[in-house]
Formats: sequence, C-alpha cells, structure tokens
Amino acid sequence: QSAFGAVQQAPEDPLFGLMAAYRKDEDSKKVDLGIGAYRDNNAKPWVLPVVKKADDRLRDDPNLNHEYLPIAGLANFTTASQKLVLGDDSPAISEKRVVSLQTVSGTGAVHLGGLFLSKFYTPSNSESKAIHVSSPTWANHNQIFSNVNLPIKTYPYFSKETKGLDFDGMVSSLKSATEGSIILLHACAHNPTGVDPTQDQWKQISTIMKEKSLFPFFDCAYQGFASGSLSTDAWAIRYFVEQGFELVICQSYAKNFGLYGERAGAFHFVTSPGSHAQETTSRVGSQLAILQRSEISNPPAYGARIASLILNDKELFAQWEEDLRTMSGRIKEMRKALRTKLEEKKTPGTWNHITDQIGMFSFTGLNEAQVQRLREKYHVYMTKNGRISMAGLNTNNVDYFADSVDAVVR
Ligand code: PLP
Repeated sequence: QSAFGAVQQAPEDPLFGLMAAYRKDEDSKKVDLGIGAYRDNNAKPWVLPVVKKADDRLRDDPNLNHEYLPIAGLANFTTASQKLVLGDDSPAISEKRVVSLQTVSGTGAVHLGGLFLSKFYTPSNSESKAIHVSSPTWANHNQIFSNVNLPIKTYPYFSKETKGLDFDGMVSSLKSATEGSIILLHACAHNPTGVDPTQDQWKQISTIMKEKSLFPFFDCAYQGFASGSLSTDAWAIRYFVEQGFELVICQSYAKNFGLYGERAGAFHFVTSPGSHAQETTSRVGSQLAILQRSEISNPPAYGARIASLILNDKELFAQWEEDLRTMSGRIKEMRKALRTKLEEKKTPGTWNHITDQIGMFSFTGLNEAQVQRLREKYHVYMTKNGRISMAGLNTNNVDYFADSVDAVVR
C-alpha cells in the first residue's frame, strides 16, 4: 500500500496538452496557434542570427568551461540586464538602489519574487500581503504565487465589449484594494490579451498606486519583442522607477532572444531613493541570495553567456535590435493581414482589436465552442479562451485561418 494512494490525478497542463494534440494531428492544413514561441514565415522555430553568431563565438572559445556560476549568476549578464530594463543612465543604478539575480528565465524570476515577498514583505496590514493579478493573466502566475502562499486576488482588465482594456474596472479595483497590496503588472504585451494601457493610462495607474501605497510587481517577458523598440517596451517600468516606487521586475529573455529552453532571465529589486536606500538594497540582496541558494544553488550558464555577449557588445547589440524588428515586424504584418482578410469577408463582428493588440498574443473574442470547432473541423489549435499566438500565422496559412474563423462565427 503506497503512502501516496490518496494523490489525485492532476489535470494536464492545458497548453502542453494542446501541443501534444497538434503534433498528433496528421492533416496537412493544421495550424498551431497555441504556444507562445516565435515562428518564422515557414512555421519553423527561428534562431536569431545574432544568437547564432554569439553561440559560435562561445563554442570557439578555448577557455569555456562548465564551472558553477556564482549564486547571483553571471555578473556581466545581470549588470547589462539592469541597464536594458531601466535604461543606461538610470539614477536607480548609479545610486546603487538595484540588486539583481540571474534566474531560471522569467518563470524563475516570478517565483523568486513571489517567494521573497511572501517571506519579507511586511506591510502594516497583514491583509495587504495579497498579490492582485489581472483577470485574465498568464495562467502560471496563479500556480506560482499559490505555491509560495501568497494570497491571490484579481482586478478587471479585459473588456469583452471592446476587446480592449477595461480601464475603469481596473482603476476602481486598484482604488479599493487594501493599502500596501502587491499589484502584478505586465510591463508590455500583456499575456494572454495583447492589450496594454496607454502611456497616459500608465500615469494614472501610477498615481493611484502611489496614493494607496500599492507595491508594483512587474513581469517583463516581451521587451523589444512587442513594439520592436527596447525602450518603448520598457517605458512603463522606467516611468514607475522615476516616480520613486520601491518595486520588483521579472525579466525573461525567452522571447526577445529566442532563448526559450536555455532559461535566461533576471530578477531585479529596486529601492526608493532615500538615505538608507543602498543599505536596504544590499540587505535585500543578501536574503535573495540565500533563497536562490536553497532553491537552485546557482542559475544555468549557457543562455546567460549568449545574452551577455550580445548585451555587452555594441555591434552585436545593434544586430539584435535588427532581429527584434524582424520578429515584431512579421507579427505586425500578420495582424494586418488577418484583420484585412476578416473585414474583406465581412466576417460578423469587429476586428480592429487584432491590430490594436500587440505582442505575441491576440485575444480574438472567439468563444469556447468556436475554438473547439476550429480544432475539430479545421485543424486549428488555440487555447480555449480564444487566445492565438500571432507567431503561428504566416503568409501560407493566414488566409486559411481567416476562412476557418469566418466559417465558425457565421
Ligand atoms: N511571464 C509572462 C507574462 C509570460 O508570458 C511568460 C512566458 O510565456 C513568462 C513570464 C515566463 O516565461 P519563461 O519562463 O519562459 O521566461
């Protein structure tokens, strides 16, 4: 008799289950709009040319070894990561108010941040310990924060009517949150909706959060991948730092470097300006190091080495920006093509949201029954909330996809 006889069968991860179903489908017309990974116009994974170059250089380096990295990771990588997200001449960096650790990609950063806040965040009211996430949000947020015992609440985000931001709903929820609550914000290219606040709306969000002493927890998984500009995509974070917030940032290099499986990412803690800022930052850093040591000892090296080479070399960096524009440009073209096609066909409904939304994903507004019909009848795979990965579309399948959508919504 096993001591684990009472363990229940867990549901399959919906996204990875979807991928498996797609792989099994033998129809030649099949379309994969599930997983959030970039594909080129031939629906193939794309190794960024700049990453290939850095990788070749690394492999040719006779001094490369497989020693452990320090607990906080590769220093050249974390330092460059701070600059990338906060800006080269961020006062927070020069005033030594930032402490950074290399993490197991964005997921590891979110986990480390959640664990750290769960242990060390001490707002005056114990109720404020909750983390408020957008409804909907990246599904893994819920699992990660519940694993570290942070109570989770939600704030409205997506308007079903406009398929844009429910700004009023979001704002009134923030206004009524308990003082000191943690608010998870997607820095850009919100997953799963593709809907971001405008800069003016970010300013209003910041004002409310200041008034209520809310704590910003930024998840930044798409810098440069969303708009094609690294600084545009970091605008909200930089604005909040300028406003003097104490905050955390989780940074993923999965999408913008295409380093998905190499698990390169970083976690940054930024202290507010003030007389004890440096000391607080350094003490926080020491505790983060203890957490990291007990969880992963030290982070994986290879992906960070590639990223670090590119981030610290002017020429490679410029080529990276070019590669980012290639990816974001292709996605924008697909948004345009899909919208145009649906509007030409007079497919019932409005389709402006396809080009209004940005980044990897689009929340199409298709309902669960329509999603199911797309899969069963047309071999098109997407998550049942109607989210499509724009990167799965290309000039060979966008017409077929639009025709299929048209058929299921009529
Ligand atoms: N946060 C958000 C919002 C994401 O969409 C993702 C990836 O899909 C991540 C974090 C982390 O991804 P990774 O762990 O692959 O860096």
